[in-house]
Amino acid sequence: AKQAYVRNKPHLNIGTMGHVDHGKTTLTAAITRVLAERGRATYTPFEKIDRTPEEARRGITINISHVEYETDTRHYAHVDMPGHADYVKNMITGAAQLDGAILVVSAQDGVMPQTREHVLLARRVGVEHLVVALNKADGADPELADLVELELGELLAEHGYHDVPMVRVSGLRALEGDPEWTASVETLLRQVDDHIPVPVRYVDAPFLMPVENVLTVTGRGTVVTGAIERGSVKVGETVEVVGFDADLTAVVTGVETFGRTMDRGEAGDNAAVLLRGVRREQVRRGQVLAVPGSQSAHRRLVARIYLLTTAEGGRHSPVSGGYRPQFYLRTTDVPGQIDLDAPAAPGQTVEAVVELGRAVALEPGLSFAIREGGLTVGTGTVLSVLD
Ligand code: GDP
Ligand code: MG
Repeated sequence: AKQAYVRNKPHLNIGTMGHVDHGKTTLTAAITRVLAERGRATYTPFEKIDRTPEEARRGITINISHVEYETDTRHYAHVDMPGHADYVKNMITGAAQLDGAILVVSAQDGVMPQTREHVLLARRVGVEHLVVALNKADGADPELADLVELELGELLAEHGYHDVPMVRVSGLRALEGDPEWTASVETLLRQVDDHIPVPVRYVDAPFLMPVENVLTVTGRGTVVTGAIERGSVKVGETVEVVGFDADLTAVVTGVETFGRTMDRGEAGDNAAVLLRGVRREQVRRGQVLAVPGSQSAHRRLVARIYLLTTAEGGRHSPVSGGYRPQFYLRTTDVPGQIDLDAPAAPGQTVEAVVELGRAVALEPGLSFAIREGGLTVGTGTVLSVLD
């Protein structure tokens, strides 16, 4: 029988962000190694994090790896993403659901373009708390590291992040077992414990979980995975699949997290929900599981839309009526059209009717991203749903 998940510490969702090659994946592996020595994690080697081999074998690219670990006071799910585009997509759609993040900056290279973009992105999607891992400190000139810290402090303050702890670490040396640098990773984790607060979870709200992945487990049926956005779910309860014209309810026959069974999955948990009598092709990424009747799918909505400036990575030219970008909502993306009376320029905020190519679960307050040709060109919030 599977082990049960013991909920004896608050659970938080964090992750590494930062410029490519600054050492995010190495640090993620190092954290699991350092904590594994204390029986607080399963060591997850670099190759396993960077390639998500299980998903790759199944032909599913989710481009997001979760590792799990505990400190003295918290239980963490930690995400590491392979490339910059994955950060943009997963963060802006809320698929990553970060309560806080470790910003990894190489002390040897300093602030780079993706460092800036990820800080901006974190601010835009409401990641309130950051801790800096000034990585590769093993080979860095300490005076150069001082300058990098100064520049970083300015960048963070510009985006409203004040008093961000900065810890000089070496993910690589810690991974190799070097005692000095192992201690640096322990210091980093203490700062994460102290500086990133436990968020308010809407556990009493009706259950809602965006579908991230759907798998068949031989002999057990169909499993739907995702981060529970609000509410809770237990074995025996009925859930509805909403979005993409689904018409399906099912009884939950199991709830798990990281391979351990749970009495009840709660808002903030990364859960695997087993559904009775459902075939794998009946549920898809981009739909949501919800309390029956609590969510509805729509194609038309009124939204407040902000068009990113060119400096923020947005467009160089205005958009006008008939503009058809891609809309990223929770775990899905669908094409859609923005109904504009007059052209809107980068940097502008407009209210407009949006018509999506497919019906997805929508409600006022839901935020989304607008992308075009691999670039994030806007962010939006649903003001009201039409039909
Ligand atoms: P990511 O793209 O941010 O995930 O970076 P990786 O973890 O893949 O690391 C990129 C390169 O930097 C690899 O060759 C690592 O071995 C190296 N690296 C990572 N951390 C450190 C460190 O603390 N010190 C040194 N010297 N090299 C590191
Ligand atoms: Mg990486």
